[in-house]
Amino acid sequence: MEAGDRVGTFAWNHHRHLEAYFAIPGIGAVLHTINIRLSPQHISYIINHAEDKVLLIDEDLLPFIEKVKDEIPTVQAFVIMTDNEAIPETSLEPVYHYEKLLQEGDASFQFMKNIDENSPAGMCYTSATTGYPKGVVYSHRGIVLHSMALGLADSAALSEQDVAMPVVPMFHANAWGLPFAAVWFGTTLVMPGPAFTPKLIAELMEAEKVTIAAGVPTIWLGLLNELEKGQYDLSSVTRILCGGAAAPKGMIQAFEEKHKIPFIHAYGMTETSPLVVLSRLKSYQQNLSDEERLEIRAKQGFLVPGVEMKVIGKDGEVKWDGVEMGELCLRGPWIADEYYQDERSKEAFRDGWLHTGDVVTVDEEGFIKIVDRTKDLIKSGGEWISSVDLENALMAHEAVFEAAVVAVPHAEWQERPIACVVLKEGKHVTKEELYDFLRPQFAKWWLPDDIVFMNEIPKTSVGKFLKMKLREQLKDYFLN
Ligand code: ADP
Repeated sequence: MEAGDRVGTFAWNHHRHLEAYFAIPGIGAVLHTINIRLSPQHISYIINHAEDKVLLIDEDLLPFIEKVKDEIPTVQAFVIMTDNEAIPETSLEPVYHYEKLLQEGDASFQFMKNIDENSPAGMCYTSATTGYPKGVVYSHRGIVLHSMALGLADSAALSEQDVAMPVVPMFHANAWGLPFAAVWFGTTLVMPGPAFTPKLIAELMEAEKVTIAAGVPTIWLGLLNELEKGQYDLSSVTRILCGGAAAPKGMIQAFEEKHKIPFIHAYGMTETSPLVVLSRLKSYQQNLSDEERLEIRAKQGFLVPGVEMKVIGKDGEVKWDGVEMGELCLRGPWIADEYYQDERSKEAFRDGWLHTGDVVTVDEEGFIKIVDRTKDLIKSGGEWISSVDLENALMAHEAVFEAAVVAVPHAEWQERPIACVVLKEGKHVTKEELYDFLRPQFAKWWLPDDIVFMNEIPKTSVGKFLKMKLREQLKDYFLN
């Protein structure tokens, strides 16, 4: 192994993966976390693109790598992470047993000293819904500064006092940087391991007295559902960190009012390490009414110190009035400045800024609200409709479990919104009742043209609503 070599990990959240988080950058190599839920085609693409030399693989995930073994010629060794004594039966070669390698290792081995802080420590490919995944490289410097940002009092305030459970996978933007920061600060880490369910998450939180847990909204919607079924004591939890997609206001309210669990909404991307924006009330907002405070906290929040933003609308930078919309652009020490060896860098990285593709408003206090991803905005008759606002409103209905609103091509209006709704187990509501619920909250032309009930909303590999698939399913809706 040489400095700069890429080592891929193909694993759940557990202690061996955590060791790899430190050991790989510690020898000057690059920790390349691979999303285990990608298609075989994307898995082999990113292993080849990153030119991984070694792969660390969980035993139960071996079949996924066996499937692509003949297409990944750069890999010279497969290291199996298992609790069992022996290496399992596998067609991969050469294979090594992770624990045995550790036993045979030199106990006096010294990690690399004086690593250039700007050299790569990690990389992660965004779980693209179109085209091939794009590689993001994290420097040692970026990881250290991002870890510090997680410890700031007005940010996640991670500390030695905490018991942190990243439910967000370690292959998704480094589990939001929590493993790096937690080890540095002395925070206890709880790793949920493979195939966790809402029940397991609730049980772990209770048993391990978790103080902070982090994950995407679908995880927390699942937990909320579980808390309605079972009895759990989650009084140890001082905050749930939720990002990756918009946290519905109704969900925040249910956690806080019904279950007394404080909830923090945050925003970031694989390209931004990811934490850049986080929603906490400012001191002078504490005395506002419950409704006003919830309204503010359901926004994505304000910038974490250390990064910079500008929001570019049709006529240059937008006014901070909470109304004018523009694309959020970011720069800073833990924000990527290119995609790894990828022509597509030019689209997203211009003039030293990352153009996020997220359309936002900024209010007078600097709170950012994500209106939509550029590609999810519904363009109806020259005006924009925010799918996120409609989804939030629908998910605030007590019978609705999940809601995704998508743009469907329309001859007259160009696009119109259609809502896809999954009901909570045992709950019933009619379309008309849902329309009655939405009507007072929106202009008439914002209302979805239809509400379609489904058993399940398709999800991306990191648990977000897969709107591309819904758009595909509904694309001919207005033709029929
Ligand atoms: P992927 O592109 O695979 O979803 P990322 O985690 O990098 O992976 O996604 C980043 C995107 O997720 C952002 O550009 C934004 O559109 C969305 N996002 C992240 N956090 C939030 C949030 N709190 N509210 C709304 N959207 C969010």
